[in-house]
Amino acid sequence: MHKQSVAIAWRKFRSKYRLVGTKCRTCGSLYYPPVNICSKCRRNSKLGEYIFNEKGKIYSKTVVRSAAEGFGRQTPYVVAIIELEEGVRIYGQVVDCNVDDVNIGDPVYCVFRKMYTSGKEGIIKYGLKFKLEN
Ligand SMILES: [Zn+2]
Repeated sequence: MHKQSVAIAWRKFRSKYRLVGTKCRTCGSLYYPPVNICSKCRRNSKLGEYIFNEKGKIYSKTVVRSAAEGFGRQTPYVVAIIELEEGVRIYGQVVDCNVDDVNIGDPVYCVFRKMYTSGKEGIIKYGLKFKLEN
């Protein structure tokens, strides 16, 4: 493995396992997922990487009781819109909790978890989910 592939792998690792978004240095707007252009500044965009604090609160939620193929064993589960401390809203699954214990305004934090198993080879995909703060 040569140096460049290590660097690319590391960059992907960082964005896969952290909440890496974009900050516009012109107007201060934050984006997640990352963007290539600020929707406010357009061609005057000066974008840079921004690592979110990984903490937020439940903005809205829904309980999934009838899931897509491959996710049935997880039901019931909560999918929520999370408002991060920086004000950006993202959605994600809330894990390790009773679905009735998740309420609007509850504080949550990011965790790294298995998302699903893909194909006959059983390749496990990982991603970010959320957990209630206790
Ligand atoms: Zn901007």
